[in-house]
Amino acid sequence: MSDRAFSVILLPTAECNVACEYCFEYKEPLRLSLEALPALTESVLAHMEQEGFGECEVYWQGGEALIMGPDWYRKAKVIMEEAAARRGLKFVHYLQTNLIGYSKAWNDIIFDMFDGSLGTSMDYPNLHRKLFSGSAGKYTEVWRERLEEVRSSGIHVGVIAVLHQGSLDAGAEAFYRYFVEELGITDFQVNTPFPGGPANEAETEFQLESGALAEFLGDLFEIWMENGYKNGVQVGPFDALINHFSGRPARLPCIWKENCSNQFVSIDAKGTVAQCDCWVTSYPDYYFGNIFREPDLSRMLSESPARQKFVERPGKLVEDEDCLSCRFLSICHGGCPVRTYAAMGTLDSKDPYCEVYKRVFSQAERYGNELRKKAVLAV
Ligand code: SF4
Ligand code: SF4
Ligand code: SF4
Repeated sequence: MSDRAFSVILLPTAECNVACEYCFEYKEPLRLSLEALPALTESVLAHMEQEGFGECEVYWQGGEALIMGPDWYRKAKVIMEEAAARRGLKFVHYLQTNLIGYSKAWNDIIFDMFDGSLGTSMDYPNLHRKLFSGSAGKYTEVWRERLEEVRSSGIHVGVIAVLHQGSLDAGAEAFYRYFVEELGITDFQVNTPFPGGPANEAETEFQLESGALAEFLGDLFEIWMENGYKNGVQVGPFDALINHFSGRPARLPCIWKENCSNQFVSIDAKGTVAQCDCWVTSYPDYYFGNIFREPDLSRMLSESPARQKFVERPGKLVEDEDCLSCRFLSICHGGCPVRTYAAMGTLDSKDPYCEVYKRVFSQAERYGNELRKKAVLAV
């Protein structure tokens, strides 16, 4: 049995309790039933056995994952862990929530199933995450209250921030100070946006000019190195890149995996299987199959023509794009398929953020080399 990990992004519901303008989810009143979960679990476990994966990371997302209720997760955990134990395999669970529906009734299961940790999302400035009433200001207020309640319970919180034009206008310094100094967040990740799903008015806010985005990320990287790096503040993906370039073990985000199709798969409440949550909710032409109709997941993945396109993408980029001559090919591999597809309508192009990545890689390489030299001098 290998120690490679397999990751399932599991969407137990497409429902949500808020109304973000940029949401690409197709919201339906559908929930994964506890009666259907054993079949889904057995399919995943059989695939793990077939491929030699000892462990599966399960990323619970939505819609809004908390809509399922704490009792549902208690029962789901027992079903999945007993099934895994029978085969000598393991599930490790992660939770991503907008936090709006959190109450202390969640604490026991968060400690028991999610190791006392959760991930949530907030943007700066928050212009597009809104309550059903349409208020972004009220959303931020409720979210901050929930954040305080979660932290006062001793739960670790990681935050994902999606950049938009307003973030670039505010500048990297204000962005960093908001998360680290005002909110006291010591673990956050910055994601590049993409216009997934059906077109909507907020999309133009998320089509960022590469030069301006590269400058913002370059500034943010520098501010973090000066103020946060030595003080234990983690900012992804910069921290993983620094580890990579200074020769330490690095857990890079999926966009820079050798091929995300080797590690990830997403399954929704209807049993739809696709590459990740971005595909399962937005692009039906790229579905791999349905796990309830085709329970042999290994077979589905190996025979799906849609998945074959993901498998072949890095090879095609090396042939058709300038990635082969790029000195960052071994870390980037041409970037993210969904960011490419959303911008270009094809998988067979390099990531539209190529120039942004090159700038961030160069900066991380410089910092990484400095740290490596300091480590050598200190010996
Ligand atoms: S919290 Fe997530 S699923 Fe809900 S509206 Fe916002 S982006 Fe969509
Ligand atoms: S398509 Fe992009 S976001 Fe989805 S798993 Fe692959 S690299 Fe990650
Ligand atoms: S940085 Fe650009 S050229 Fe280099 S591997 Fe990535 S997408 Fe290709």
